[in-house]
Amino acid sequence: MSLIVQKFGGTSVANPEKIKAVAARVLGYVKKGHRVVVVLSAMAGETNRLVALAQQMQDQPDTREMDVLLSSGEQVTVALFAMAVKEAGYDAVSLLGDQVKIITDAMHTKARIKSIDTGLVTRNLDQGRVVVVAGFQGVTEAADITTLGRGGSDTTAVALAAALKADECEIYTDVEGVYTTDPNVCANARKIDRISYDEMLELASLGAKVLDIRSVGFAKRYKVPVHVRSTFTKTQGTMVVEEDKNMESMLVSGVTYSKNEARITLSKVPDVPGVASKIFTPISEAGIVVDMIIQNTRAGEMTDMTFTVPRPDYKRAMGIVSGIVSGIGAGDVTGSEQIAKVSIVGVGMRNHSGIATTMFRLLAQEGINIQMISTSEIKISCVIDEKYTELAVRTLHDGFGLHQVGKPAKGKATACKKK
Ligand code: ADP
Ligand code: ASP
Ligand code: MG
Repeated sequence: MSLIVQKFGGTSVANPEKIKAVAARVLGYVKKGHRVVVVLSAMAGETNRLVALAQQMQDQPDTREMDVLLSSGEQVTVALFAMAVKEAGYDAVSLLGDQVKIITDAMHTKARIKSIDTGLVTRNLDQGRVVVVAGFQGVTEAADITTLGRGGSDTTAVALAAALKADECEIYTDVEGVYTTDPNVCANARKIDRISYDEMLELASLGAKVLDIRSVGFAKRYKVPVHVRSTFTKTQGTMVVEEDKNMESMLVSGVTYSKNEARITLSKVPDVPGVASKIFTPISEAGIVVDMIIQNTRAGEMTDMTFTVPRPDYKRAMGIVSGIVSGIGAGDVTGSEQIAKVSIVGVGMRNHSGIATTMFRLLAQEGINIQMISTSEIKISCVIDEKYTELAVRTLHDGFGLHQVGKPAKGKATACKKK
């Protein structure tokens, strides 16, 4: 008899019919004798709706109150789900983050889990109940409700699986697994059968939202096998596990994109020691994480400084930078929210040269201008104009031959370009 944590995303519990269907699927496992903990997201669109409501109240909503508001979405689905299980003749109990004692730090709207008390969940499982836990939420030691950042229900599920020492964590979603790129953008995307924690971490950090990056971090640290699969089919999905020799060793294993960033440029910054620190210290003190930074020297001992920040933090970052511009003797500040970051990822890149130039050539052939570039051992990212995102993703996917092996994704996405 195994213990399984099963997480269902927003599209899987989008309405009462879908909640009943998911309950029936979970009960299939219960009938076979498994102990099941279910983690649920809010109904599709609900968290966005709540964010929009908050914005009608305050220009920059108070983050403590935002968390009280956002956590309500998951409260609705867990209660409805427990009712559906009971209606089917089985016992269930819904539990919120603070009831379970999912203790987090106090970074409202992006809190980190510090500990999970498994006592209440285990006692309910021992009494034969399906335990239904609200995803995405926790509580601080000072009893304030927190949320874990968008997409955070994945993290609740994997962290719970680790704490409970579950045999497996299943992430049920609206695609059949992890693909070589977003199957909703590129119909030639291929499902990956097995992927290592490290490669998945990289894909998730660069925008593949199929798994929240922190959930992959927990899975890696506590060696939780994660199975990403579809709520709507029985097909085997993708296993996220430790690296083994049988994994496909591709030069480039995936293409990702993120529309969650914004660019800020400071021009004519004096090229003297201490200037970078004066710019970035107040930004980091405001809890804003800077991603890429480019600095180039130009004539007259002046330099231009361009960097990216998460799009939700753009206005705040612009405010901070505008406030220090004259103090450091810089020229003006400009910025754009209409950018996207497209990346290619693959551990196989480590020992190969020429991958970056291939990427630049493929983008150039489509007339796509590169605004910023950053590289690491196993990824290359380019910032481009947001309107070219989908074209860039498809071009890179096929250009690196990712469409050639295995079965392509089914669906309505535009087929990738034939090379
Ligand atoms: P859920 O609500 O179930 O958590 P999400 O919308 O957060 O679902 O994540 C699933 C979505 O992730 C898919 O619908 C797909 O568009 C997107 N996605 C992006 N990159 C990938 C990828 N490499 N493989 C699979 N899905 C991806
Ligand atoms: N409901 C939250 C969100 O939309 C958490 C999640 O779905 O994982 O971001
Ligand atoms: Mg998600």
